[in-house]
Amino acid sequence: MKPVIHSKLPHVGTTIFTTMSTLAAQYNAVNLGQGFPDFMMSEELIRLVNAAMQHGNNQYSHMSGLPLLRERIAQKAQTLYGTVINPETEITITPGGTYAIYTALTTVLQPGDEVIVFEPAFDSYLPNIEINGAVPVLIPLSFPGYSVDWDLVRQKISPKTKMIMINTPHNPTGSVLGKNDIEQLRSVVKDTGIFILSDEVYEHLIFDDVQHESILRYPDLLARSFVCFSFGKTYHCTGWKMGYCIAPALLMNEYRKVHQFNCFCCSHPVQHALAEFMLQPQQYLQLGKMLQQKRDPFQQLMLHTKFKALPSYGSYFQLYRYDDISDETEKEFATRLTREYGVTAIPVSVFYNNETDNKVLRFCFAKKEATLEEAVTRLLKL
Ligand code: GLN
Repeated sequence: MKPVIHSKLPHVGTTIFTTMSTLAAQYNAVNLGQGFPDFMMSEELIRLVNAAMQHGNNQYSHMSGLPLLRERIAQKAQTLYGTVINPETEITITPGGTYAIYTALTTVLQPGDEVIVFEPAFDSYLPNIEINGAVPVLIPLSFPGYSVDWDLVRQKISPKTKMIMINTPHNPTGSVLGKNDIEQLRSVVKDTGIFILSDEVYEHLIFDDVQHESILRYPDLLARSFVCFSFGKTYHCTGWKMGYCIAPALLMNEYRKVHQFNCFCCSHPVQHALAEFMLQPQQYLQLGKMLQQKRDPFQQLMLHTKFKALPSYGSYFQLYRYDDISDETEKEFATRLTREYGVTAIPVSVFYNNETDNKVLRFCFAKKEATLEEAVTRLLKL
């Protein structure tokens, strides 16, 4: 008898990022799809990794992460957000933000639990919930502002609600949560046992001097939260797959039980290098301005095309409407854009369970000037 595999994720195909990056390579397209910079990361940080390797840091690190790196993260949290985090018990270094999120969901979710998810949502969230036997409760962000309808959230809360997932700055829309959202969230979870998962991988990629409303600013909310971050986004090294999670000790204790038997620990020399590099806060403090200086010229250039910008307040991304160009679905249009015009973007419909199609594409502007110019030159032909 042959073994038969019963899929744990029967409705899941290959992630859109791999699909579109493969298509982009095939058609030699300018890839503004998958979110990663095409400019060089810090040479100094690379040298620091090399030095850490030369110094012999080539074996396993501490399971929860290099203690020095965790200390530096705690210092940063205190300086930026005014919160005291215990590096020994409340921080775990992870191989990337996506892993940090998956681990948090796996730590908490029991079969049948409900998780409130705002759509469009980063594409790993729903499969991460489903593989744990839990149930996503989907709430659309209002179009085109992509803000949260908190009354709808109140209606969707049930005795089974185990967690609410938030993401600011938001992927794919570039929207951000404000103080009022935090107040609303506070009132929703008050007197409940609901956990919060806060995806803050774009914490420094926020524009126009808007303040990042990190959960780390709010100790009462942090007491029930897993907050996930990404070194890849902060230091332009998405391929290093490094991130971390902050949670109160009791939650983190359970989190580490899951983590230690999954990847055990992260790259040791890279953690040494990051710990050293974190002594230069200007590296991340200037990031919002730097990325804004990519968003703005790109937006200016795009004015000459038939695409219409939606506002981006943070992240690597800006959404553009194309309803003046075509009535194709987002997937059809994004595919044709790659094949016939040589520019790759991400259809936003893939971030909705029901494939809501507003005729918008997500463009990643974390690219060299020349890359953005070449993309727009090609888009002008439409
Ligand atoms: N976060 C990146 C994006 O949204 C991609 C991450 C991935 O490819 N898994 O484009």
